[in-house]
Amino acid sequence: PAPLAEHGPAQIIAMCNQKGGVGKTTSTINLGAALAEYGRRVLLVDFDPQGALSVGLGVNPMELDVTVYNLLMERSVTPDDVLLKTAVPGMDLLPSNIDLSAAEVQLVSEVARESSLSRALKPLLPDYDYVIIDCQPSLGLLTVNALTAAHSVIVPLECEFFALRGVALLTETIQTVHERLNPELQLDGILATMYDSRTVHSREVLARVVEAFGDHVYHTVIGRTVRFPETTVAGEPITTYASNSVGAAAYRQLAREVLARCHAE
Ligand code: ADP
Ligand code: MG
Repeated sequence: PAPLAEHGPAQIIAMCNQKGGVGKTTSTINLGAALAEYGRRVLLVDFDPQGALSVGLGVNPMELDVTVYNLLMERSVTPDDVLLKTAVPGMDLLPSNIDLSAAEVQLVSEVARESSLSRALKPLLPDYDYVIIDCQPSLGLLTVNALTAAHSVIVPLECEFFALRGVALLTETIQTVHERLNPELQLDGILATMYDSRTVHSREVLARVVEAFGDHVYHTVIGRTVRFPETTVAGEPITTYASNSVGAAAYRQLAREVLARCHAE
């Protein structure tokens, strides 16, 4: 991909699936890091109270005084108060911790409760090329906020039994947000994760996903490898932890697909 002469305004991607353990957080970190390697300015938003994205980038969420929660709920807090640099040049983080779980309840009584995140991100958009929001495993108000802020959605799907179960509800939610709150929103792509080429089962699931979603499925498929859990312990992306690994190559390929799709529009 060609280098950019200037940066921004950011394309906002929500990494979303209400099922846990499908690779949302892993994909957020590693797609972000791969885009940053290609010279893009990237902001990752931890939008899961579990704080796994923050942990995966070497941040201890419990030690944070201000997080995305404060950015959402307190007018006096600015993005600069919350923003952290990561070890990857060009990639920053808005971290979260368990405080964010209170926002789900507190936002209910706010005016324009679905657009709080969108509002909070607005001043940051000129500084970045991509903002990737790591959603929590639910379709509650926080996730609706992420979808309302986003231009596009990436849905990681684990190549396992029942991978497609629940996806209809997710696509309905995306459709509803598109109609009522955010006309720009579109399903960018389905990302097959934890693929094991040695099993017939993985291949069958992938074939069914392609049958169901056609062109929406990324050509890139993320294989199952223990390198990913290792990166979580290391607190860094696979692109730096194991730069020459198959997993790092896969997320670089995904980054090139994402860059190509954005250009096509
Ligand atoms: P989610 O954010 O959807 O809950 P995670 O990205 O946290 O999912 O992944 C769940 C677990 O699976 C983590 O321990 C992670 O390290 C591991 N994992 C993610 N992707 C892969 C993969 N391609 N192969 C093997 N393990 C993976
Ligand atoms: Mg996660």
